Amino acid sequence: MTKLIDIHLHLQDKAFSDDVDVVIERALKNGVKRFVCNGTREKDWLKVQKLAEQYPFIVPCYGIHPWYVKKLSENWLEKLEELLIENKNACIGEIGLDKCIKDKNETAQKDVFRKQLDLAKRLKRPVMIHCVQAWGWLMDILRNESPLPMLLHSYSGSAEMIKPLLDMGAYFSFSGYALNKNNKKMQESLKKAPLDRLFIETDSPSMLHSKRNEPANLLLILQGVAELRGETEEELALAIWENSERFLNV
Ligand SMILES: [Zn+2]
Repeated sequence: MTKLIDIHLHLQDKAFSDDVDVVIERALKNGVKRFVCNGTREKDWLKVQKLAEQYPFIVPCYGIHPWYVKKLSENWLEKLEELLIENKNACIGEIGLDKCIKDKNETAQKDVFRKQLDLAKRLKRPVMIHCVQAWGWLMDILRNESPLPMLLHSYSGSAEMIKPLLDMGAYFSFSGYALNKNNKKMQESLKKAPLDRLFIETDSPSMLHSKRNEPANLLLILQGVAELRGETEEELALAIWENSERFLNV
């Protein structure tokens, strides 16, 4: 059977607090065999760690999301480093830049993002990046960095930016959003992203109409993406699984 990996989701979210085991079970039945669970703020980290301890197929990611750069404890960066040293297979995420929020805190966003990138380089861990309408900021920061393994989750940049980002070490992940026929820009990028740098994700619990999204839906995304790109589901799933071994170092 096809082995799938949901490269970006949030199983620690309170939307799953009553039935996370059932949600995982349903996803396993649909072929999802690896889950990359992203913490977004300090209070998430312990929950993510516990899930990863309980389920060996959950890859934990720890980070500060751009929405939460204002509420940091004094020693957040040290705590993050300790956690990563303790968890050898952990990645850094979800981190990033977002221009679409009311209270932008540009300086804090960039500062927190840069610090986490530095940590990723020092500890040699892949990073999971959220970038919403902040491509100028992102490119400015990455231009001064040597290439590093990074995932641009739910990629919403242009198809033209794929090439320069590839040179910087980027992988591209697409969620159910990209399958919306009105989303021409995302579909163009989805077709252009090379197979050896491609991932799919549910970003559960968010997105997909107004209902709670869950990792079992990854199978539908696989089908939609295969159709759009003109690949078979099997070859797509196999390539993505191989990408995950290379990217996550597992
Ligand atoms: Zn996310």
